[in-house]
Amino acid sequence: MLTAKIPDDDPPVCIFGYGIVMTTEAEPLKNPEPTDDLGLREFQQIIEATYFEKDSARGLEGSFMWLVEEVGELARALNSPTSNTTEERQEFADVLAWIASIASIRGIDLADCVREKYSKGCPRCQKSPCICTHRSGEEL
Ligand SMILES: [Zn+2]
Repeated sequence: MLTAKIPDDDPPVCIFGYGIVMTTEAEPLKNPEPTDDLGLREFQQIIEATYFEKDSARGLEGSFMWLVEEVGELARALNSPTSNTTEERQEFADVLAWIASIASIRGIDLADCVREKYSKGCPRCQKSPCICTHRSGEEL
């Protein structure tokens, strides 16, 4: 069982874990054929339980620098002619973990913000697939 520690003084904003016990058990899946997909919310909860204390103590700027470092490592992995290597997969996981941790530091529920922005497809044209030209290499 994962638990979250409540800091004694002036706790930073945290969306999961303060005053509650978090478990590694997922909520019931809506998918009739359950998979081993964590789901974004459960992933953020795990990252928060694992790293929130350290990452919030480091602060937003320091944690953001770690994200940038991991994005650089992902870029190097993507330059490999071989895809889906262990290294590449780990770099994707690292980048997502830092995104989740920084969102937690800011009190942002990633699953909520992703749903708010992308659940209807492209936020600009409201289509899926997107019919905008800005993802076709044209200017924003
Ligand atoms: Zn679009």
